[in-house]
Parts: sequence; C-alpha cells; structure tokens
Amino acid sequence: MFDSLSNRLGDVFGKLRGRGALTEADVRAAMREVRIALLEADVALPVVRSFVDQVTELAIGQNVLRSVTPGQQVVKIVSDALTEMLGSETAELDLNVAPPAVIMMVGLQGSGKTTTTAKIAKRLKDKERKKVLMASLDVNRPAAQEQLAVLGTQIDVATLPIVAGQQPTEIANRALQAAKLQGYDVLMLDTAGRLHVDQQLMDEMQAVSRAANPAETLLVVDSLTGQDAVQVAQRFTEQVPLTGVVLTRMDGDARGGAALSMRAVTGKPIKFAGTGEKLDGLELFQPSRIAGRILG
Ligand code: GDP
Repeated sequence: MFDSLSNRLGDVFGKLRGRGALTEADVRAAMREVRIALLEADVALPVVRSFVDQVTELAIGQNVLRSVTPGQQVVKIVSDALTEMLGSETAELDLNVAPPAVIMMVGLQGSGKTTTTAKIAKRLKDKERKKVLMASLDVNRPAAQEQLAVLGTQIDVATLPIVAGQQPTEIANRALQAAKLQGYDVLMLDTAGRLHVDQQLMDEMQAVSRAANPAETLLVVDSLTGQDAVQVAQRFTEQVPLTGVVLTRMDGDARGGAALSMRAVTGKPIKFAGTGEKLDGLELFQPSRIAGRILG
C-alpha cells in the first residue's frame, strides 16, 4: 500500500515525541522517509537525491530541531519545496504571435497525443473563441489522419483535408498555407508518434519544427509510465525546443512522481493534465495539487 508521506513523517516524529529537541540525526531519519515516499511515488532517482539534499539543508537550517511541532514543520518544508519544484503557478499557453500560432504536439505513440491535440483545440475554441485548424502529420500509422478528422468532427474543429502520399513537412507547409489563407488563429500539428524514441522520429520532428516555427511545442507523456516517461522527456528535450509538457492519464492512479521528474528533467512547465478519455478531460496543471498527492 502507498503510505502517505504525511503519515510516514507522523510515525517518525511520533516515536521521537517526549525526547525534547530533535537532533540532526532525527531530521535525517525523517528525510529517509521522504526519500522512500518519493521513490514510491515514482520520482526518478537523481531527482529524489537532489530534492532530499535540498530539503535536508532547509530543515536543519530552519530551527526545525527546536520547534514544538517539528513533524508539521518538516511536512511544510517538503510541501513548499515540492510545489516550487513543480513550478509555483499554472502555466497558460503562450500564443502571442502573428496568427496562425502553431502548436506542435510531440510524444510517443499511445501517450495520448492525438486525444490531447483535440482536447486543446476544443478548449481554445470554447474558452477563447479561437478559430482552430488541426492537421495530423502521422503518415506511418494507418488511419492516424482519419482519427484526427473524426475527433475534429466531434468537437466541431476543422481538420486539414487529407492528401495521400505527402510527407510530414509537406503536410505542415500545406497546413500553414491553409491556416494563413483562411484566417485561422491557431494551427495544431499532431506529429507522428513511435513506440520508442528513434532518430528518424527526431529528424522528422526537427524538420517540421523548422518549417512551422511553432509558438508552442508540447511534449505529451503518459503519467502512468513513471520512470520511462522521464527517459522519453530527456530524449525529446535534447532534440526539440520544448515549451511545455502535458501529462495524460492523471485520472489514473499515477502518484504524481512523473510530474516532479518531468519538471526537473525538461526544465519546462507542465501546462496541462489529461484527466479522462473524453474530449473535455483537460485541466490546467495545478502544482500544489500534485504536491498534495505526493504528500498525501
Ligand atoms: P496517441 O497514439 O499518442 O495519439 O494516443 P491517443 O490520443 O490515440 O490515445 C491513446 C488512448 O489513451 C486512447 O484510448 C485515449 O482515449 C486515451 N487517453 C488519452 N488521454 C487520456 C487521459 O488523460 N486519460 C485517460 N484515462 N485516457 C486517455
């Protein structure tokens, strides 16, 4: 069972109660619990290490040792540090460019990329009254382009007409032309996913990125894949200039660890959380909520 970090720390400090001031060793014992809780929440090991070091220093430095409620103080320090690490505030899309603003979606196959493309398009249309065009650049997976067209019909957002035999950059250029000529505010490009990160995928993505000059490049990752998600993020970060991350399947039992790792590895804000299969299952990412999930 996943024991919450608050419970774990409560146990540690409970045992120490009545012993007067805490020692540095007591704080270190508490930090071992923090470490275990983070690992259980699926946070990547290097991220756990640097986090624990940072929090240990803070806890020892902040008179926690002499406090009457050291447990609560440590929990607060951990919670604040988690929130800060996740980015303290929600991060909106930045589409402040001459239209059409291009949003390029990247990620592995099955991460929820196409669904998220439609979710974001719907959100922009409904909440910001934007005129949105979507185009699928996935020429590898049969029916990928049709899948996006079907979603477009469901949410009443236009998709680029499919022309057989075109390469991804050709489709991107055609989409850009169409968006300009027809006065679209936003163009969403759903790039091809692969089962694994490979160089061909990366080369293709870079070519599209150069052709379309996106205002936002969002990496879509499945929060349930935990440690794998971190490696995926690492590889994508090295290859394309990301502007943000979308974590899908946050409605599942992901413990939030992927979120913490993702922020640390990419250095970019998590902008949205996918919260269901339905096309309105998308929320602005709330760092404090994830900190709460990890703390329990
Ligand atoms: P792609 O291959 O990355 O384009 O992935 P898809 O968009 O086709 O999504 C794969 C599956 O994940 C579909 O069945 C989606 O309905 C589902 N999915 C996507 N996002 C979410 C989410 O946030 N929560 C849940 N529960 N399912 C999702």
